[in-house]
Amino acid sequence: MKISLEETAKELSERNIRPSIQRVRILAYMKENLCHPTVEKIYNDLHPEIPSLSKTTVYNTLNLFLAAGLVRMLNIEENEIRYDIVMKTHGHFKCESCGEIFNFRINIDDFPADDLNGFTIKDRDVYFKGVCPKCRKEKVKEAE
Ligand SMILES: [Zn+2]
Ligand SMILES: [Zn+2]
Repeated sequence: MKISLEETAKELSERNIRPSIQRVRILAYMKENLCHPTVEKIYNDLHPEIPSLSKTTVYNTLNLFLAAGLVRMLNIEENEIRYDIVMKTHGHFKCESCGEIFNFRINIDDFPADDLNGFTIKDRDVYFKGVCPKCRKEKVKEAE
C-alpha cells in the first residue's frame, strides 16, 4: 500500500503538528507497515532514505503521535515497546514461534463489560497468543 505523503502531511497539520519531512515519513511508514514496529525497526528502515534521522527523533516523534492519538503503544512484550497505528479497535495475536504480531478484527461492543459500571475505560486490549499458520506449517514439515 503506497501512502500519499501529501495526505499524511495534511493529517499532521490538522492535529497542529508541524509536518516536517521526518514526521511525515514516519507516519507514512506506520501506515505502510502494520507489523507493529519498534523504534529500532523504524529507524533501521528509514535511515537509509533519511540520513539525518536519529533514533531519538524517531522516539520523540512517536511520543508526539502518541499524545495526538495517531498511534498507540503495545506492551505485549515486557522488554520491548511496539507501536501501532490507530485503526478501528482490533485485537492482537502474537505468534510465540516467530514473534510476529497480527491484527484481527473484533467488535469490541460485543464484549460485555457490565461489571465495569462506573469505571472510566481508557483503553481496551485484546491479546491472543499461539502459533501462526506459517509456523504451524513449518512445524509439520519438521515432524515429517
Ligand atoms: Zn509465526
Ligand atoms: Zn495492531
